Amino acid sequence: YFTFTLISEMLSSPSTYLFASKRIMLVTDFYYGRFEGDKPKLQQQKTPFTYKCQSCLKVLKNNVRFMNHMKHHLELEKQNSESWESHTTCQHCYRQYSTPFQLQCHVESAHSMVESSTNCKICELAFESEQVLLEHMKDNHKPGEMPYVCQVCNYRSSFFTDVDTHFRTVHENTKDLLCPFCLKVLKSGHVYMQHYMKHQKKGINRCGKCRLNFLTYKERVDHKTQHHKTFQKPKALEGLPPGTKVLTVLI
Ligand SMILES: [Zn+2]
Ligand SMILES: [Zn+2]
Ligand SMILES: [Zn+2]
Ligand SMILES: [Zn+2]
Ligand SMILES: [Zn+2]
Ligand SMILES: [Zn+2]
Repeated sequence: YFTFTLISEMLSSPSTYLFASKRIMLVTDFYYGRFEGDKPKLQQQKTPFTYKCQSCLKVLKNNVRFMNHMKHHLELEKQNSESWESHTTCQHCYRQYSTPFQLQCHVESAHSMVESSTNCKICELAFESEQVLLEHMKDNHKPGEMPYVCQVCNYRSSFFTDVDTHFRTVHENTKDLLCPFCLKVLKSGHVYMQHYMKHQKKGINRCGKCRLNFLTYKERVDHKTQHHKTFQKPKALEGLPPGTKVLTVLI
């Protein structure tokens, strides 16, 4: 089954393919996946609750608008900040860069929606070549690893943006508030604001294998052990005899 188109495709982009036994797999099919959550919880009752921001006293009409409002405060604060650190720290994943320019390059390459064959979509990191990306995947990730989990319904994905979008659509107009830094779900506006602000302090616990940051060491360790492993075996690997060696081949 080595058709001509496949071979020419492989030659133009060799490292995005893996050889599993005699099977050829796209790296995306091997490492990435999505899992639908618990169905009953998806039908949770929807009633909009209003929230009052304790910082500016604005009233927000529902949970998602309140979450957006907090993000907006943070962005304003960052813009007005004089400190070097606030201009060299990524506001999405808190990775530190040496210059504002390097930070800008990181944000544009790693957190933008532009499709790239040299990005790890789990970590949201850009690599210089497909070969370096493949090495990174082999050393850091497991097949079917889905570290981003919705704590309300167990929906999960290899991509942060999936869980973010899922929450904003499926859990809109509920009492749940999602922390964009650790994906913890909080139930009151007051507690949410406190939690949100704690993430802005130094000494955060970066996962290192994805974009999440935790407030405590224990949360980070629990997350790493529970979620950075194969959650669902990639479909293309099913039915392979046990012990089949999966080889990554670079042409
Ligand atoms: Zn406000
Ligand atoms: Zn970042
Ligand atoms: Zn990665
Ligand atoms: Zn959910
Ligand atoms: Zn958090
Ligand atoms: Zn992680």
